[in-house]
Amino acid sequence: MSVVQKQGKILSNLEVAPSIFLLNLGLPQVAETAQPGQFVHLRIGPLSDPLLRRPFSIHRTKPEEAKVSILYQVVGRGTKLLSQRCSGEKLDCLGPLGRGFAIPKVAGQFILVAGGIGIAPLIFLAETLLRKMGNGKWEVEKEKRKKMEVVFLMGAASTEYILPESELLSWGAAVEVATDDGSKGHRGPVTDLLTRQMDRSVASCHIFACGPEGMLKEVAQIAGQQKIPCQICLEQRMACGVGACLGCVVKTRSGYRRVCVDGPVFPAGEVIFE
Ligand SMILES: Cc1cc2nc3c(=O)[nH]c(=O)nc-3n(C[C@H](O)[C@H](O)[C@H](O)COP(=O)(O)OP(=O)(O)OC[C@H]3O[C@@H](n4cnc5c(N)ncnc54)[C@H](O)[C@@H]3O)c2cc1C
Repeated sequence: MSVVQKQGKILSNLEVAPSIFLLNLGLPQVAETAQPGQFVHLRIGPLSDPLLRRPFSIHRTKPEEAKVSILYQVVGRGTKLLSQRCSGEKLDCLGPLGRGFAIPKVAGQFILVAGGIGIAPLIFLAETLLRKMGNGKWEVEKEKRKKMEVVFLMGAASTEYILPESELLSWGAAVEVATDDGSKGHRGPVTDLLTRQMDRSVASCHIFACGPEGMLKEVAQIAGQQKIPCQICLEQRMACGVGACLGCVVKTRSGYRRVCVDGPVFPAGEVIFE
């Protein structure tokens, strides 16, 4: 893995939903090498304020345009300052960091479960899986190919936080939506959609999830009960991002592990939720 520290030029930084911004950065090396589930560690200000970098999943890459996209929610001082940075300015970026999603060797039904801003890394994953299917990279018989599918389950507080699913649909994903207030799709948690989906799951099914801890815990339980392989992307608070400070450890069946270098993606059955 080739981690670089580079000044990424801000190509655009626009609000795409209330308090949610899409940041496009010119970062050729990261765009070339990043894998879904990996993250970048951004220094938000031009100097050292705020002191600590902030981690963000890689939302999409376009190597041909040397572009890396980040989708972020304003939750505190760092993300507020980030939202005020303008096109043409530079951001110090360290990445790509961490271990991303392991892409299954066998084609099948891939269920992606996104809660809120947890959608960020799953778009990159969906694009990668669908591209691999479209390119015929998975050598499967015609009958089995019919069962290859990406099902994207999107959960959010309300309709304005649901990012347009049109691109996912145009890539060939099946999309289902759940909102807490029922303003779009199913009213209730996105895990309801996952439970429903379990009746339609096929033998070679695989779940990938990112979102709030409570949601991930439930996804892990559902996957465990159904004995379906499941990978979850954790977004623990972290400081150094390179494994030195131990600020982001999580409890797993094999002891404490660092989210920044051992993750952020872990097999769901490994993580012990408190
Ligand atoms: C590997 C990884 C990938 C991430 N990817 C994304 C992403 O793609 N998009 C995105 O919007 N965010 C992502 N995050 C979370 C993001 O890093 C934090 O929201 C950000 O650092 C907050 O900085 P701040 O200065 O604005 O907030 P702070 O002022 O530090 O905190 C403000 C509030 O947010 C809470 N908070 C801060 N960090 C986290 C966190 N990691 N998890 C839960 N609550 C937190 C604090 O407890 C506090 O209540 C990711 C985190 C990790 C570890």
